[in-house]
Amino acid sequence: MQNETLRQELTPEGLADFVPQIKAPAGGHPEGALLDKYGRRISYVRLSITDRCDFRCTYCMAEEMTFLPREAVMSLEECLRVASVFVGLGVTKLRITGGEPLVRKNAMWLIERLGALPGLDNLVLTTNGSQLDRFAPALHDAGVKRLNISLDTLNPERFKKITRIGDLAKVIRGIAAARDAGFRRTKLNAVMMRGTNDDEFVDLVRFAIENELDISFIEEMPLGDIHGRNTTYISSEETRERLSHHFELVPSTEDSGGPARYWRMPGSETRVGFISPHSHNFCDSCNRVRITAKGELYPCLGQNDATNLLTALRAGDDDLLRQAIIDSMGIKPFGHDFTQQMEAPKVVRFMSMTGG
Ligand code: SAM
Ligand code: SF4
Repeated sequence: MQNETLRQELTPEGLADFVPQIKAPAGGHPEGALLDKYGRRISYVRLSITDRCDFRCTYCMAEEMTFLPREAVMSLEECLRVASVFVGLGVTKLRITGGEPLVRKNAMWLIERLGALPGLDNLVLTTNGSQLDRFAPALHDAGVKRLNISLDTLNPERFKKITRIGDLAKVIRGIAAARDAGFRRTKLNAVMMRGTNDDEFVDLVRFAIENELDISFIEEMPLGDIHGRNTTYISSEETRERLSHHFELVPSTEDSGGPARYWRMPGSETRVGFISPHSHNFCDSCNRVRITAKGELYPCLGQNDATNLLTALRAGDDDLLRQAIIDSMGIKPFGHDFTQQMEAPKVVRFMSMTGG
């Protein structure tokens, strides 16, 4: 369906055709409606639309994963409703994630509607890139503003080893398809792992420069019970130091609104970012919450406290849903406390449960 047509249908009245209970915000956003107890305004939601994935990345999942039964997962209509209520509470940015969001059946049905939701200014998506050669044009047409694509290596065998099943060539085709579809400033995400991909950081930055992409290096987080993390951990500082022998890295003051800190390279548009939950705690400016595929609201990626939104969603009571979201602000902690002792995970969920 054409996005413009959808946009017309998704007036507050039109929205009711899809989602009967939604009250779209009348007269704009109630500024500050979602303030946590530390005074941080929540304007950004990361919505996981599936816990399933067509890869099994070693740092993200166990080899044998048990996925949620279908009835435990929010329907696409429920995803749209929960997103709409957040937008009504002043949220302006939404990231669709997973699991792998593009393996969810009919994901485009939801994405088209989110792209047309009045008040949602910034719809973005994180993907492993495996399905992008198929979906990139539709995502762009739907109003997705920017893509993050995970890429930890440029070596096909290594890629297969890290993802256990992935095909690097397909992801590279996906990156090209995103560009052809009109996406600009797509960002690569690379998890840093000593002894696995740390000899490729320079090549990954070169690839980003050649393909006019940004790139963020991510410190591995202790999510889920995966052994051996404390031997693979590398700090952002170490990677930056290593890269500085090959590239002139100029600190950038720009703020993406996220946890990454960026460096620019003269003569290139590429930004090199570092997401450093261990070595640089970014919690004091946290503006986000996460919703899992089964409708739990996690106010912090690094803590176990959550609010169940599914009951209110399935009761069809949006006032209850709105109140549950507002109340969840009370349990947003000041911050995570990931330690570098990665062997005993503090958070027992895998990243694919909470959405990256
Ligand atoms: N499947 C999509 C993808 O891979 O981009 C979206 C979901 S994935 C969970 C989101 C991001 O989380 C990816 O960039 C992935 O590399 C990152 N990630 C997963 N497990 C992680 C961990 N333990 N530490 C740091 N990053 C992790
Ligand atoms: Fe799947 Fe993304 Fe997790 Fe890899 S990081 S297993 S692609 S959800």
